[in-house]
Amino acid sequence: MIRVTAENYYSKEVAQEYMSASQYKAFLDCEAAALAQIRGEYVRPVTTALLIGSYVDAHFEGTLDLFIAKHPEIFKRDGSLKSEYEHADYIISRIEAQREMMYYFDGEKQKIFTGEIAGVPFRCKVDIFKEAEAIVDGKIMKDFEDVYVPEQGRLPWYEAWGYDKQGAIYQELVRQNAGAKLPFILNAATKETEPDLDLLQLNQSILDFELEKVEENAPRFDGIKKGIFEPVRCEKCAYCRRTKKVKLRMQEVLCDGGE
Ligand SMILES: [Zn+2]
Repeated sequence: MIRVTAENYYSKEVAQEYMSASQYKAFLDCEAAALAQIRGEYVRPVTTALLIGSYVDAHFEGTLDLFIAKHPEIFKRDGSLKSEYEHADYIISRIEAQREMMYYFDGEKQKIFTGEIAGVPFRCKVDIFKEAEAIVDGKIMKDFEDVYVPEQGRLPWYEAWGYDKQGAIYQELVRQNAGAKLPFILNAATKETEPDLDLLQLNQSILDFELEKVEENAPRFDGIKKGIFEPVRCEKCAYCRRTKKVKLRMQEVLCDGGE
């Protein structure tokens, strides 16, 4: 078993052995795409939207210098920050003006935990670990509007993006290592011109419910990683569209005088 460290956290070897919250969510979305991603056959494109979140995360983590060194594309030719990142600086200033949000940014940063859920090895990296107090995750969102999720309807942003699933996994791994079930808190801001801010503790019974679902689903997803089960294709996502083999099909007729 590989020991998970800050250096190998995102490596292919660790991704093969350990499930993470994002891997679990990827399997729920599309098993075929999740497996291809783990095997390095498919890379989800990094969008500017994702990078802005990482920029703000890096600031609060104290690793902005490193982030800037890795992402020279955030600068214009004249050496000044591109406007999106100037806006990221504004978001940071809004958060820094909030005493309670800053309180929840204070703690051990990027702490790695590993454990097992339903016999499946899991890993997580906690943004801010406040020992014996809370697990905090920083989120930079487009906005805080509800999001329509097919077959589930309109959901609050933190459910639509599966942060309840993330919280359930983080909380369980922390519990296995630190011995206590700690509150899972989102320290969130939006990218709107005038950013909105939120500091939200997720509901415990929802986290408990989501953990039960992880226990149900993780063994199958782990089996897919090990080649025991065939992944199911969703036939809707970017990966499935890219790897689609088109065959002639007949129009489906819904009302042919039946039943
Ligand atoms: Zn798919």
